Amino acid sequence: MVTSSPKSCAVPVILFLGAPGSGKGTQSSWLSGELGISCLSTGEMLRSEARANTARGMELRRTLASGSLVGDAAVCSIVESHLRRAFAPGGSGGAILDGFPRTVNQAMFLDSLLVELGQAPPEVLHLDISTEGLVRRLTARRQCAACGAVYNLASRPSSRGSRCERDGGALILRDDDSESVVLRRIAEFEKMSAPLIDYYRGRGYHRIDGDGDLQAISEDLLNAIIPARMVAAA
Ligand code: AMP
Repeated sequence: MVTSSPKSCAVPVILFLGAPGSGKGTQSSWLSGELGISCLSTGEMLRSEARANTARGMELRRTLASGSLVGDAAVCSIVESHLRRAFAPGGSGGAILDGFPRTVNQAMFLDSLLVELGQAPPEVLHLDISTEGLVRRLTARRQCAACGAVYNLASRPSSRGSRCERDGGALILRDDDSESVVLRRIAEFEKMSAPLIDYYRGRGYHRIDGDGDLQAISEDLLNAIIPARMVAAA
């Protein structure tokens, strides 16, 4: 990982597009520390809502386990509250969205919300990675059942074996990381990302090669948004 001290962010909203397993979670949380702005993973938010023992929690568990998308209205409402907080007085003044938007409707919703909040349009970072690489990474991914920390049997094993380093929780394969569901999620991503890429192309869209090593990818991400940050700061 590239390391340096946090800087103020002149680009208010950064979006990460990337198939499941493309590394967008790791890179978006690194970039959020780097730029000193908040990071929202819609997938994480939904997984935490799905743990609730309610009818809504059960319905969400079924949707997530199947690899399908959750309805636009529910996801847009999560993002709206997060952005309103980020741009309220005392908020972080910027946000990275990991996993949102996933449909053109969500992208249009975000555009009008940013206009209403008086913010510039988003910068879009697309982490592009081969299907083979994705399947390999995802089926080796393990997550702590208690705190959600993410490990990888190949690239980031836990020093405590099948237990979480932080809290000793059991490390499990997420329901949606089995190979058949992974292939379905990748297909779903390809289908939905094409119109989104068309939507953003020519307006803040950057394609980053996600097959390289972690540090090289982090540098590419930062370099991609540097010109936008300089324009916004001028
Ligand atoms: P992720 O952790 O980003 O791979 O997301 C995991 C799952 O959460 C996805 O397969 C979807 O079921 C759901 N999800 C996350 N973000 C969205 C979104 N923006 N729109 C619809 N569903 C989403």
